[in-house]
Amino acid sequence: MQCAHCQQKVIYAKNRLCKEHFLNFYHKKVDHVLRQVALEGKKILVGVSGGKDSASTAHALLNAGCSIELLYLDLGITHYSDESREAASHLAEILGVPLHILNFKKEHFTITEANKLIQCGKIEGAICGTCGLSKRFFLNKFAFENGFDYIATGHCLDDELAFIMINLKNQDLLQLARVGPTVRGDLVNKLVGKVKPLYYLTEKENRLYAVLNRLPIHAGECSYATNNTQIAMKEMFNIFEEKFPHFKHNITRSIRKLIAESVKVEKAVLTSCSVCGYATTKERSECLFCCTKRRIGMTLLEPKP
Ligand code: SF4
Ligand code: ZN
Ligand code: ZN
Repeated sequence: MQCAHCQQKVIYAKNRLCKEHFLNFYHKKVDHVLRQVALEGKKILVGVSGGKDSASTAHALLNAGCSIELLYLDLGITHYSDESREAASHLAEILGVPLHILNFKKEHFTITEANKLIQCGKIEGAICGTCGLSKRFFLNKFAFENGFDYIATGHCLDDELAFIMINLKNQDLLQLARVGPTVRGDLVNKLVGKVKPLYYLTEKENRLYAVLNRLPIHAGECSYATNNTQIAMKEMFNIFEEKFPHFKHNITRSIRKLIAESVKVEKAVLTSCSVCGYATTKERSECLFCCTKRRIGMTLLEPKP
């Protein structure tokens, strides 16, 4: 099959694009997000996991002329974390950018340790919730303490749609109102701004971009992924997308419009956590992360001066 824009062979059948036109299409989608935040001259920290989405994020940001450094969070998940860290190191080498590694074992607890406590009923909750909370906390803490202006993550359209559906299922309209490609920083409350450059792209498109650019990626899956609701939802959306092209884009766009028109959210009043000094809501003197950490029975972080 021939590309919709030139004589070259198609490599992306859904939109009938050759390699060159697929890369143009991809970079345009990234630019669409980057135009919403002024990143010129800014220091950006990219959270990398060793996977295709974060590797493509780092590559696409460099392509757009951004100044980036990478942070790999070593979750301490046997085999999976070691292999992912290797892919992240290789990526940093190829891109020629600094890589920072933050080890959960040194900071508090590994995800494997937390999972054991959940399994034997010593703490409540799902491991992916604890893992996600810890990742968000350390990404922000590292970025804040090291003077980064923005955090970029590999969240893409599939992640956003899964987030929307989970919150619709839970009838949590306040969480739902957090959708969107950017989150403004609030340095008074030690919150660094966030950007999701791949917001308008799918996992399938990210995989193709990573392959075309020969990015080193770890294709293995975390051993706890079978319990992950988001992953289960994404598999269903892929079936819908096959049957109804642009399903993911259209549903996400419609729900964002509905939210913008009908969900009124009062901005939470933030204050400093009494333990770690990072943001918490005024109703909760100890932030959710410190509360979880305490429940897990590990040493509390030193209070910030
Ligand atoms: Fe963490 Fe769950 Fe993802 Fe594993 S599947 S890395 S536990 S969020
Ligand atoms: Zn073409
Ligand atoms: Zn705290």
